Amino acid sequence: MSFVMKCLGINENGNLTIGGCDLKEIAEAYGTPAYIMDEDEIRANCRIYTQSIKDHYDGKGLVLYASKALSCKYIYQIMKEEGMGVDVVSGGELYTALEAGFPNEKIYFHGNNKTVEEIAFALSKGVGRIVVDNEQELSLINQLSGESGITTKVLFRIKPGIDAHTHSFIQTGQIDSKFGVALENGEAEQIMKTAHQMPNIEVVGVHCHIGSQIFELAPFELAAEKMMNFIADMNDRYRIHIHELNLGGGFGIKYVEEDRPVNYDRYIQAVSRVVKRVAKERNIALPSILMEPGRSIVAPAGLTLYTVGTIKNIPGIRTYVSVDGGMGDNPRHIMYGSEYEAALVENPNGEKTNTVTVAGKCCESGDILIRDIKLPEIHSGDLLAVLSTGAYNYSMASNYNRIPRPPVVMIQNGLPKLAVKRETYEDLVRNDV
Ligand SMILES: *Cc1c(COP(=O)(O)O)cnc(C)c1O
Repeated sequence: MSFVMKCLGINENGNLTIGGCDLKEIAEAYGTPAYIMDEDEIRANCRIYTQSIKDHYDGKGLVLYASKALSCKYIYQIMKEEGMGVDVVSGGELYTALEAGFPNEKIYFHGNNKTVEEIAFALSKGVGRIVVDNEQELSLINQLSGESGITTKVLFRIKPGIDAHTHSFIQTGQIDSKFGVALENGEAEQIMKTAHQMPNIEVVGVHCHIGSQIFELAPFELAAEKMMNFIADMNDRYRIHIHELNLGGGFGIKYVEEDRPVNYDRYIQAVSRVVKRVAKERNIALPSILMEPGRSIVAPAGLTLYTVGTIKNIPGIRTYVSVDGGMGDNPRHIMYGSEYEAALVENPNGEKTNTVTVAGKCCESGDILIRDIKLPEIHSGDLLAVLSTGAYNYSMASNYNRIPRPPVVMIQNGLPKLAVKRETYEDLVRNDV
């Protein structure tokens, strides 16, 4: 039997394991619901990316973990140890990274509406780069940098006109996005010229992020090509030397059996070829390459453990299996209709004879985790693991219905360690006055 997650197994008791740890024992020790993650797998995923830059681009680059996928002190500590950079998109993520002792110079600060306070905070902490979204923000950064007597290194978020999702990508004049400045209408060129004249801004790079859960190499190659030509144009026209090319994240992972992710190593291989070719054609220096994987680092390393409660069979319609969590800990189905696989912890290999819908316990009819999944015979009290939930679950969790958020447990070398404690009822009323 194979699972969508590589780090799962079945032990001598017939129970499902993650990173070699019995999930039934973990449930007994930490309760449910709980996010369980294989730290060794997270680290292995980081190493595939860092190694690929060494193998295919002489190490001239940096892999940034896109920390919105899962942000907590523990994960920033892992990233620090793995020699990664991180990207953050808010003052809160930045604060968490700094609290974890993450080196400020390897932090890239993104966002389409950074507040004055956030920018001032980032500058005071000396973040490595700010990825500038628009002209308004650029002036603000220049002004605040001037007041502090510093020069700020910036990249620009550019819309290269490629919109990629899972199995398709389109090349459009895709300028209808709240993020960044467009290539094709001259906005990108204009902001570079403006920035180049500013006394407290140092233009170091350009950035694009073309989508998420992408299974193809072609859209990344196309983005690299367009961005490289833009870098060359800026060099030729204005002598603006851009030496960082950040191609964003979006690499797809296996949520369900049909998903066919590309080996992560191949993205940098494919992109490197394009970058080297255009650099030669256009006679410009090779930029360093940055990439920002989020989902692909943590999603395949995590699952959510639930206990089954009510089972409701509506004859001729469907069977609802309700668990002790739901849209509060995993809002992805209700938001995007995302699909997941699941397994019964104490019967992971059983014949899948029943089609059920896994529902949460929130007061919303749409509070569904998985619609129409085939599972073995299921009973109240069973432990259910929803798989590949390591990204955009804990980080998107809410306290809807005043349900405390689950803990995050990391498995390292076969041993569980708490990374985030379970919230308590006291936590829920902490800020109530
Ligand atoms: C979300 C995001 C990422 C990470 O995307 P994944 O699909 O999780 O790899 C990287 N860069 C930027 C700017 C993003 O907004």
